[in-house]
Amino acid sequence: MKKIAEVLISKKFLTAAIAILLAAMFVCEFSARRRVVSAERETYKLGTVVHITAYGSDKKALDAELDAAVNEITRLENLFSVNIASSEISKINSSDRGAGVGAETAAIITEALRIAGETDGAFDPTIEPIVKLWGIATDHPRVPGKGEIEGALPLVDYRRVSVSGGNVSKGAGQKLDLGGIAKGWIADRLSDKLRADGIKSALIDLGGNLSVVGESSERRAWRLGLQRPSSSRGEYFAIIEATDLSVVTSGPYERYFDRDGVRYHHIFDPKTGYPAESDLSSVSIVSKNSADADALCTAFFVMGLEKSVRFLKAHKDISAVLLTKDMKKVYATTNIKDKLTVEDKSMSLEFIGGRGD
Ligand code: FAD
Ligand code: MG
Repeated sequence: MKKIAEVLISKKFLTAAIAILLAAMFVCEFSARRRVVSAERETYKLGTVVHITAYGSDKKALDAELDAAVNEITRLENLFSVNIASSEISKINSSDRGAGVGAETAAIITEALRIAGETDGAFDPTIEPIVKLWGIATDHPRVPGKGEIEGALPLVDYRRVSVSGGNVSKGAGQKLDLGGIAKGWIADRLSDKLRADGIKSALIDLGGNLSVVGESSERRAWRLGLQRPSSSRGEYFAIIEATDLSVVTSGPYERYFDRDGVRYHHIFDPKTGYPAESDLSSVSIVSKNSADADALCTAFFVMGLEKSVRFLKAHKDISAVLLTKDMKKVYATTNIKDKLTVEDKSMSLEFIGGRGD
């Protein structure tokens, strides 16, 4: 009798303990949800507005993370910028045949050369002499003479640059410009560090080069807008749902100048030395790797629709959204069908080449 009573009591005790535990878990979960705090930094770096937001439960820790992230951008800008005389890129550019560099500069150049090879030079990190001639986004943009462009073009050839250990060698007079890949590469380093430090939710925006860590603060995929070209900032033609992904867009509509009724933009065709005459108005790539996405969307813009579609059909792991120049048609890879919503009803949508095609 006593034994039965003991069992009943212990059963009751166990049930009560489980109930208390569940209630405690509920309270913890509830208060964790309520205790979401954020930290934010906005600053001008890399020639653009940089905006980083992180969410968590410890404001002090988030502030420390974002301060470290901003310092990291400065450190990497000091290595990669063509505009900073002491950078490692300037060291290569001012040398005759190349220079010794640190591991990070060697890694980003290796990555840039790989994408240059894959895109048959549509993306070419040796574009600097052409960028310099045009001076777009400087105080003195100009249309160079034909002779100047013909003089600079032979220097644009990624195949004459190589990286071996910490040494970068190049053809005489060649110069590098990592403007088409470095924002992506830096975004990758920032998101890697945030993840490694346990940050579960963050948005890194390096002048439209977006990378997200985890889910949004509402615990669902981030909804990232694709800018409608030539419309005011924040006017989107499509939305991409993203978790732990990067979305990078290239287009001719932000950095340009007008001369005698002609618009000249900053994405150059390495084969001609002139702004690429693309039949696309914007290219977005969705990828885990922001550096690849950055370089590829610059390349696709140069390649134009037909070549890009062919490339995407041969590389089914790439996710892309291409908007035609007349802004009437959106082409997207099938592998992002479930992530993409085209909001602009005047645009038609066609799926191409991705996984499952
Ligand atoms: P993307 O399409 O990603 O890249 C276009 C840029 O890549 C061009 O501006 C050119 O630099 C280069 N490029 C053009 N055509 C090609 C091609 N076919 N292949 C390869 N590359 C090409 N801007 C300033 O105004 N002042 C600064 O001091 C400054 N410093 C910077 C420092 C760093 C480290 C970086 C990464 C960028 C800096 N920028 C600066 C911005 C830079 O000049 C570009 O404008 C920017 O990176 C372009 O990015 P995007 O996403 O608009 O275009
Ligand atoms: Mg780019």
